[in-house]
Amino acid sequence: MVKTYAYDDQTQITAHFNAKEFRCKCGKPHDFNVSDELVEKLENIRDVLNCRNIHISSGYRCSDHDKEVGGSGSGKHTQGLAADVCCYDQDGKPISSKIVSCKAQDIGFGGIANINTSYTYTHLDVRTGKKWYGDETKGTSWGCNDLYEYYGIPRDDGKDDEPVGTTKQGVDISYCQNKVDWAKVSGIDFAILRAGFGKYTKQKDAMFESHYAGAKKIGLPIGAYWYSYATNADEARMEADACIEILKGKQFEYPIYYDVEEEKQLSTGKQNVSEIIKAFLERVEAAGYWVGLYMSASPMSSLVTDDILKRYAIWVAHVGVKKPSYSGSYGAWQYSWKGKVSGITGDVDMDYCYVDYPTQIKAKGLNGFSKNNTADDPKDSDTSTNPPASSETPSDPPQNDNTISVEVTLNGEKYTGTLTKK
Ligand SMILES: [Zn+2]
Ligand SMILES: [Zn+2]
Repeated sequence: MVKTYAYDDQTQITAHFNAKEFRCKCGKPHDFNVSDELVEKLENIRDVLNCRNIHISSGYRCSDHDKEVGGSGSGKHTQGLAADVCCYDQDGKPISSKIVSCKAQDIGFGGIANINTSYTYTHLDVRTGKKWYGDETKGTSWGCNDLYEYYGIPRDDGKDDEPVGTTKQGVDISYCQNKVDWAKVSGIDFAILRAGFGKYTKQKDAMFESHYAGAKKIGLPIGAYWYSYATNADEARMEADACIEILKGKQFEYPIYYDVEEEKQLSTGKQNVSEIIKAFLERVEAAGYWVGLYMSASPMSSLVTDDILKRYAIWVAHVGVKKPSYSGSYGAWQYSWKGKVSGITGDVDMDYCYVDYPTQIKAKGLNGFSKNNTADDPKDSDTSTNPPASSETPSDPPQNDNTISVEVTLNGEKYTGTLTKK
């Protein structure tokens, strides 16, 4: 969305960009427009390039100013969709606009062009439709399809992000992945399953039983997460009880995570958010589970007290970056929402795990494993001897292929419920 700001507006649009950086430099104190998407993408490139700062030499331009600086008077700058930027590294040196251009291409800017002969400034815009990639010092009539190829920059093949040592590669899946051919699933070491959401056991994830059975069948270690809507500690304890009921009779080699990401929760502030988290984790832990917290890097950094962050398993979410911008230690990182995994149809969330949870959880006899019975280890026994869930969860509604749990957002409000097949 493109927003209009008054000339002297100093709104902090995102963590590192203020509205005033985008206003027109013609000298007249008029309103200006800035696209939210433009600023978000600039945050993104700041992260990916690990910039100390990004200087915006030109953001919004009125038509007159656009013409003054050699534009057409109606280009992307006049629509609030563009910024000319210099990205500085941690030593304060400008990063080559060839590198900036390539990363901007990865991030999905629609228009990207070097604009000076020393290759320090880059024009970036969020045009839709046909993309324009080029180098204005070589003329604007010419463009290319791939800036890596154009500048001869080797593509980062992701090797730096490859799991090292004992790092495990996993996925987290939910009702969104309703087509999984478990016999064909390969290339992953673990899966974290969405068990359900909210306060009631009837809100079990529609694919939880299916995913659980499929993963167990191929001997894939699993954990689970519970998606929270709690806005206070009492509701969090109700969510914990529902979660415990759903997990009953099952075994998990990875932790049980509490997923806290709703704006309605985060907006209540650090103290309340931390109380919610603690209430849930204490309750589920007391029921015999290794528990943890799933959150995005930013709220994880600002809205959770240290005692929680040090005490429980931490699974931090931050996609599209080399490293999550969370300075505490973490056991797992969700690094992509667009992974492709053999046997799973569609995009899938991807995770790295750095802690050997399976060994520790089994040694402690948590998550449905019994301490003195090594035969629980699926490696040592036929996994079919695991107790079927239905035998131990009599209070669960029977699994019924004719019903699905749904969540719908209407006018910003979320609704949940069950739909029955006709
Ligand atoms: Zn102007
Ligand atoms: Zn520009």
